[in-house]
Amino acid sequence: MWFAYRAPAVPAERLARDVKADVLVVGMGIGGAMVAEALTAKGHSVAMIDRRGPLKGSTAATTALVQFEIDQPLTRLAPMIGKDNAARAWRRSRLSVANLRGRIAETGIDCRLGDRQSLYLAGDVLGPADLRAEAEARQARLRLTAAQTDAAVEVLAAYEGRGVGSALAGFALEQVRREGDRKALPVCPFIKGWIQRHPEFLEQTYGGETAS
Ligand SMILES: Cc1cc2nc3c(=O)[nH]c(=O)nc-3n(C[C@H](O)[C@H](O)[C@H](O)COP(=O)(O)OP(=O)(O)OC[C@H]3O[C@@H](n4cnc5c(N)ncnc54)[C@H](O)[C@@H]3O)c2cc1C
Repeated sequence: MWFAYRAPAVPAERLARDVKADVLVVGMGIGGAMVAEALTAKGHSVAMIDRRGPLKGSTAATTALVQFEIDQPLTRLAPMIGKDNAARAWRRSRLSVANLRGRIAETGIDCRLGDRQSLYLAGDVLGPADLRAEAEARQARLRLTAAQTDAAVEVLAAYEGRGVGSALAGFALEQVRREGDRKALPVCPFIKGWIQRHPEFLEQTYGGETAS
């Protein structure tokens, strides 16, 4: 699929002489590229080799869906490896996707990144009641604040216009600021608008800007 797109070729040449580098990365797919990018960003020199040439492996075949939800539902993973470990695995997956997004913004890579929401259908793995339990477990155990979940902020009609959404946004961003080890990736239109009206929280968001 990717060969159908016009993209700049990754410059590479046959290795016909000795080269010296701090690190040799074997494999020129997305994995090798990310390792090399992280190393060069830290000032290391890197040489990359591939027995087939750049982007000839799985990377060229991907459908490019980057999803933080891991294959095992949280409620299924917890009995296997323990509640804390399961929640940590899910949080780290979420964080790595947010970090990827942040790095793409920082490096200015134009890869037409776009947000999509996940839709879960009851099926063989999780029935309707299991799905409800899964949603509750994610809210409770993943410590996702309102600004960090993919769920839009919805305010019950009875509370509209009473500043409930703003209070939620302020509370969530304040928490991110206090904890200091995470950043928020605003995807909900309400939160995006709120942050634009409260630029003092820009520092708590990825790249100091909101997701488009
Ligand atoms: C059809 C398809 C669809 C996919 N869709 C998605 C998706 O939607 N979302 C998603 O997240 N993932 C998806 N994946 C998986 C994703 O593409 C891979 O996990 C990812 O590209 C792996 O990247 P990589 O750099 O580890 O491996 P690769 O891109 O395979 O790169 C490894 C490179 O190492 C080289 N190599 C291996 N051994 C040696 C050696 N001994 N010496 C020199 N070179 C060597 C190979 O030639 C290869 O170029 C999909 C995969 C396929 C096949």
